[in-house]
Amino acid sequence: MFNALMVDKDAEGKTSAKLQQIDIAQLPAGDVVVDIAYSTVNYKDGLCLGPGGGLVRNYPHIPGIDFAGTVASSDDPRYAPGDQVVLTGWRVGEAHWGGYAQKARVKADWLVPLPAGIDARQAMAVGTAGFTAMLAIMALEDHGIKGGPVLVTGAAGGVGSIATAILANLGHAVAAVTGRPETADYLKSLGATQIVARAEINETTKRPLEAEIWGGCIDAVGSAMLARVLGQVKYGGSVAAVGLAGGADLPASVIPFLLRGVNLLGIDSVMQPYENRLRAWERIAKDLPMDKLEAMIVPATLSDLPQLGRDILKGQVQGRVVVDVN
Ligand code: NDP
Repeated sequence: MFNALMVDKDAEGKTSAKLQQIDIAQLPAGDVVVDIAYSTVNYKDGLCLGPGGGLVRNYPHIPGIDFAGTVASSDDPRYAPGDQVVLTGWRVGEAHWGGYAQKARVKADWLVPLPAGIDARQAMAVGTAGFTAMLAIMALEDHGIKGGPVLVTGAAGGVGSIATAILANLGHAVAAVTGRPETADYLKSLGATQIVARAEINETTKRPLEAEIWGGCIDAVGSAMLARVLGQVKYGGSVAAVGLAGGADLPASVIPFLLRGVNLLGIDSVMQPYENRLRAWERIAKDLPMDKLEAMIVPATLSDLPQLGRDILKGQVQGRVVVDVN
């Protein structure tokens, strides 16, 4: 028996999350059982801890879209007991039971061995958010960062915090957009060289092209902010579109693509192929300063999760929550 945070739905369709003891035989099918050490909290987890936002189909459900831990048993030759592993994506925590438990049974294909230089706690301080930030940086690098400051939107959130720390460590000037002025010192401690007020860049402009300012952008916000940024990126520069914290629409013009050769790069962390996952985790272990990661960590336990889920949906979580499931 082990502890799990189960979300159930009553006859009226109302969901509730409770800490429960469950048996290993109840776990879904898979070829590797993992003793989970840590998980974290993402926007999607906030949805799955509450009414589900259409992501969860079957109840009772164990949320947690990512986790890190140690292989307990494996029917797959790639993994043996004692191996340190991390899992993000593949709809784990949505369609499949996830990381808000002391154990999980998953497909071997979904796991990535933890590279040297990063432990399970640090891996969950990174989590899906940081993994996605790394994918976005790799995409910008592949298309060329055009000097100048790299803009990071939603900077005090999970994706933004890790993106800021890695970009600064790689030697880029980072302009951090935040709607929370009180996070300025935190963002500077991560390496941001410039703080941009959200209101400054959120206003819609009627001009499709403005002065060329940014050498590239990692955008966690979408909507009017992304549209505005496209018109401010330097010639041939790229914007990695990661999130929709400000909305899923894109009220933009194609002019920046046509007259400035700007690239809009889509970033998906969920179905990312294995080789890229491995490359991203190796880059994280190498390029993310672990002292800066440590400063982002907000520790939590399984019983804190229902409240944290509500907080992240309201944009009130700063940095990276690390959930010790034991
Ligand atoms: P967080 O909630 O931690 O961060 C989002 C940040 O966006 C907030 O901290 C806030 O930053 C800013 N923000 C919130 N609301 C608004 C608004 N209305 N307008 C402008 N800015 C706003 O989330 P994550 O960092 O974990 O994720 C960021 C986005 O990326 C989410 O939309 C998430 O769903 C998506 N995502 C996508 C993935 C993929 O595979 N493509 C994977 C992981 C996440 P501040 O206070 O600094 O302004």
